[in-house]
Amino acid sequence: MNIIISDIENKEDKSLEINFSEIIEEFNTKTPVKADLNVQIAGSIIRIKGKIHAEVNLVCDLCLKDFTKIFDIEVDEAYIKENLNSSQQKEFELKEDSFVEDLNGKDEIDITDFVYQCVILNIPNKLVCDINCNGDGNINKYIKKESSDPRLEIFKTIKIEKDN
Ligand SMILES: [Zn+2]
Repeated sequence: MNIIISDIENKEDKSLEINFSEIIEEFNTKTPVKADLNVQIAGSIIRIKGKIHAEVNLVCDLCLKDFTKIFDIEVDEAYIKENLNSSQQKEFELKEDSFVEDLNGKDEIDITDFVYQCVILNIPNKLVCDINCNGDGNINKYIKKESSDPRLEIFKTIKIEKDN
């Protein structure tokens, strides 16, 4: 889904409400990603605020099984049409974790990509299906094999001493 910036600028309130509902294939789910977003243009700044609800099918790092993680994200991000001068930058203070993307004169914003990026930024580095997940036999087998590597024997010894 693309929005045309000049279309919004031509509106009296210079804003647009978006009810987004699309399947994003990269999330491996048939459930559409939903978002309620408000786009507001002020000078050369395009600000997008709202909420995103997404279900993403991921693979657990411990047991290697698929699981669905639900993301409910509040977003407050901005695009700039061209480089801001320093006084404009001062006026426009963003949250620390926000991104500001320079559109370099483009007149369109890909909202699907925007939503995708927002969700991706919220996926944790370590993916665990459940707080009680202990992994499975395949992983344990792998760890055992690793520690029988003669180069790792020294670490095994150190660990045993520590445990006693
Ligand atoms: Zn798991």
